[in-house]
Amino acid sequence: MLSFYPGPSKLYPQVYEFMQDAIDDGVFSLNHRSGEFTEIIKKAVIGLRDRLDIPESYQIYFVSSATECWEIIAQSFIVDDSYHIYNGAFGQKWYDYTKKLHPNTRHFEFGIDDTLVYNDMDGVDSAKVLCLTHSETSNGTMLSNQFLSDLRKNAPDALIALDATSSMAGIQVDFSKADIWYASVQKCFGLPAGMGIMVCSPKAQKKGIEIGEEKHYNSFTNLHLNAEKFQTTHTPNTLNIYLLSKLMPSIPHISDIDSEINERAESWYEYLSDFQDVRLLVKNSSNRSQTVIAIEAELEVLNNIKLKAREENILLGRGYGQWLNQSFRLANFPAINSHEIDILKTFLEHTIN
Ligand SMILES: *Cc1c(COP(=O)(O)O)cnc(C)c1O
Repeated sequence: MLSFYPGPSKLYPQVYEFMQDAIDDGVFSLNHRSGEFTEIIKKAVIGLRDRLDIPESYQIYFVSSATECWEIIAQSFIVDDSYHIYNGAFGQKWYDYTKKLHPNTRHFEFGIDDTLVYNDMDGVDSAKVLCLTHSETSNGTMLSNQFLSDLRKNAPDALIALDATSSMAGIQVDFSKADIWYASVQKCFGLPAGMGIMVCSPKAQKKGIEIGEEKHYNSFTNLHLNAEKFQTTHTPNTLNIYLLSKLMPSIPHISDIDSEINERAESWYEYLSDFQDVRLLVKNSSNRSQTVIAIEAELEVLNNIKLKAREENILLGRGYGQWLNQSFRLANFPAINSHEIDILKTFLEHTIN
C-alpha cells in the first residue's frame, strides 16, 4: 500500500527496525519512571532539539494527542477568553472545544484565499491568548512566516499558540515566533499514531506556572514538574517515545528536510496546474501549505480517482470538513520518497485529463 494520507501517514521505513529493537531491548516492560526509561525520554528530547532546532529555553512535553493540547491550553493557559483565528475544520474544532470551557472565547474566521491582516481582526488587540492553526490540514493552507512575524510584533504581550500538527518536523519553523507549539506524531514525524508533542516558550512556562491551574492530571503545572525530571504525568506512549529517540538521529536536520519538502511542494503545485479535470483548492499561492496539498474536482471525477486508486493500492486523503465532497488531499510528508511520488504521478496521468 502506498499512502499519501495526511495522517495517520506513511511511516519512516526505519521504524520497522526500531520496533524490533524495542521488543528485543525489552523497552515495553520498563517502568516509565525508571532510570532506563528516563534516559530514553532524555534522548528523545535531545534529538528533537537537535533535529528541529528547538531552542534550549523551550520545554518539550509528551502528551497524548494534538486534541489533548486544545484542552490543556483551555484549562491551563486561558483564564477568561482566547482569540481563535482560523479558516478550516481543525481551527474551528479547537475554537468549539475551547468555547465549551470558556464561553467568552472569540474567533475570527477567514477565507482560504484571503490574506490575513492583523488590523482587520476585530478586537484582537485585547486578546491574551491567540490560537492559530499553522498548517490547516483540512484545506491545505499554511500561515506565512510574514504573518507570524507581524502577529508577534503587533501582539507582543499575548501568548501565541500554534497548532503545527501537520507542519512540525516537515518544514522548518521559527519557534521564537510563538509560545505554545504542538503536533501529533502520525503526520510529518512519520510515526504510528497516539502521541502529541507540546513545546512551550519561557514566557508560556512562566504564565502557566503563574496561573497555577492544577485541577487535572494533565494541568500544565503537572506536565511541567514531570518534564523537568524527564518524566510524564501518566504512563506515556513508551513505544512512540522510544521510536522518537531512535528516529531523530536517523533523519536529516530540519533545514535539509525543509528544502526537500519545499522543492517537492513547488513541483506538485506546478504539476497539478496542468490538468483540466482537477484544480488546486487554494488559489492564492502564498496561502498554500507545503506539507498538505488539497486538490479540487467534481464529485464524479473524485469518485473515479478514489476507485482507481484503491484498485492500484494507493491511499489518497479524502476531502475534509466542508471540502469533503469537492476535494482530495495529498500528504507531502518527509517519509514519502520520490519513487512513490513518481508512481502517483503516473497513476494520475492515466486516470485524469
Ligand atoms: C491531525 C490534526 C489534529 C488532530 O490530531 P490528533 O492526533 O488526532 O489529536 C489537530 N490539528 C491538526 C491541524 C491536524 O492536522
